[in-house]
Amino acid sequence: MAKTLIEHGWVIPMTQREHTIPDGAVALDGDRIVAVGPTAEVKATFKPDKTIDARGKAVLPGLVNTHIHLVGSLNKGTTEDAKRAMGGSFKRAIPLQEDYVFADDVYFPALVHGIEAVKTGTTTLNEMWWYMPEPAKVVKDLGVRAVVGGVVREMNTGQITPGKFDRTWLPELAKRNLDECEALIQEWHGAAKGRITTRVAPDGPDRARPETLAKCGELARKYGVGLHTHCASVPAEQAFMEHNYGKRSVEVLEDCGLMGPDMLAVHCVFLSDRELEIFRSTNTKFGHTAYLVGKRGYMPPMEKFYTSGIEISLASDWISNDMWTIMKAAVILARVQSGNVELIDAWKALDMATMGGARCLGMDKEIGSLAPGKKADVILVDMSAAWVNPIRRQNVVSGLVYNAQGGDVTHVWIDGELVVDNRRMTTVDEKEAIRECQKVADKVWERGKHLFGDELAAE
Ligand SMILES: [Zn+2]
Repeated sequence: MAKTLIEHGWVIPMTQREHTIPDGAVALDGDRIVAVGPTAEVKATFKPDKTIDARGKAVLPGLVNTHIHLVGSLNKGTTEDAKRAMGGSFKRAIPLQEDYVFADDVYFPALVHGIEAVKTGTTTLNEMWWYMPEPAKVVKDLGVRAVVGGVVREMNTGQITPGKFDRTWLPELAKRNLDECEALIQEWHGAAKGRITTRVAPDGPDRARPETLAKCGELARKYGVGLHTHCASVPAEQAFMEHNYGKRSVEVLEDCGLMGPDMLAVHCVFLSDRELEIFRSTNTKFGHTAYLVGKRGYMPPMEKFYTSGIEISLASDWISNDMWTIMKAAVILARVQSGNVELIDAWKALDMATMGGARCLGMDKEIGSLAPGKKADVILVDMSAAWVNPIRRQNVVSGLVYNAQGGDVTHVWIDGELVVDNRRMTTVDEKEAIRECQKVADKVWERGKHLFGDELAAE
């Protein structure tokens, strides 16, 4: 593989707070970073096949999104302004996905969501959904680094209704999901030269019986892979758990053997202090979907999270996968919620979007920062736009996090491959993907149109 020198950029390695290299270079040899430093120093010893002039650009480690459903692009415009959070996700998006989206529909909508992620600078995705391995095929074609989790659920999750405490459990569905997840691990763990790994992904503590949740842990331990789940997403989930088990979501996950350093739990909005303490004491990892839950009018207890020492990463869930938007939401919403402006700053947000994500996925030795020996996952961010300028040299990270946008990302290397070249995808045909995605979306929305009845009535 080629040796590439990225030179004269503003390098932000994320190896140490406040450390940037104004005229910096990053040397890539195949799939690895081999040198990071001032341009003159790196050039003195590295003989590249190809040189990229990064003048006027920031050079950053690729961003890490620790929770995404690629097929979630089909929820765009269906939930954001629904009258209540439950009305959006549980009465529209999830029933749409459960009952009207089929395996054949997944590819192009998932590809479009993935293109958005990659073009805005995400180089590692933690995907989970059903219809595996369709999403795995998408991340393979995109060229993105990904962890793919096969969802295990034991019910039609479109049936979740606040105040309804019985579930029609579907043990055959759970068994099928567990079998599919095992097949996914066997076929895809380590695929695409190690770029793709796998996890077991119980959909949520209220979406399968405890014995099924426990089987998810057994499967993960059998193959030495991690776990990934939704948790404490809506008040109705905790009400269901307390009504049926006399315990809350995290307590039941712990009873089932699922809490621990290999578990990444997302949303985590409605947590008691005891549940937070279980998070901390078990070293369970947290994926903060700030922009998504903010749209629902929700927010996890962020002041408690930030002061607890729990490892935090940032995640999209679905609909918008631009980590620059998510970083802004994470800072602003936590400040509004807590009244504490010092709780989180731009450095912390960028750290959560890079090293925090890497640590939460147990991949911090391989990705998350620009350092010799790490995987060549690198992005360039154009700093020439009016909305980024002027740039205060002493505070360039703050300038980027608050002012830059996903569309400012110009180049993306993943595993040493140039996947975005001057804002163009090199791996897939973006225009074709968008065209085909629209056809699928029109078909799916027509199939599920009764879910949007109140919207039609308003027209
Ligand atoms: Zn989700």
